[in-house]
Amino acid sequence: MSDTFLRLVPTDAHWHPDEAAATAAVKIARGLFPLTEHVAVEYEEGVTFFDAGANTESIHCSFCGSDLEDWWGEAMDQAAGSRFENLSVTTPCCHKATSLNDLRYVWPAAFGVCALTVVNPGVASLASEQLRTIEQAMGSPLKVIWQHL
Ligand SMILES: [Zn+2]
Repeated sequence: MSDTFLRLVPTDAHWHPDEAAATAAVKIARGLFPLTEHVAVEYEEGVTFFDAGANTESIHCSFCGSDLEDWWGEAMDQAAGSRFENLSVTTPCCHKATSLNDLRYVWPAAFGVCALTVVNPGVASLASEQLRTIEQAMGSPLKVIWQHL
């Protein structure tokens, strides 16, 4: 059986909640997903890319919609050289300044130093008001990533 990880990543790649906020958010997530196996805020050592796992990656320019898949691999290698401290890029298609975190990932993905992770939440989607409750507890808007492994 495959595992599903619901990862909620703060929209600011360098932001993380303090301990009290993290604990409150975990408590709320546990209440929202009674079937889950595990809920925790996981802190990474540096900025980490949370992707959709086995879901096919497809990346588009957020300005003009061009397919950026070929270019993206190289851009990621470069950013990895700075341990993802610097995510700024210029799009190859329309030459606009943006961030790797702001490209259009067809399967949502995000960069961050932490994620609230719900292992096998027992549901396939998150209602916007559920998300808002967790965001309020965390103190930050969150990106929702479904990872299938
Ligand atoms: Zn473009």
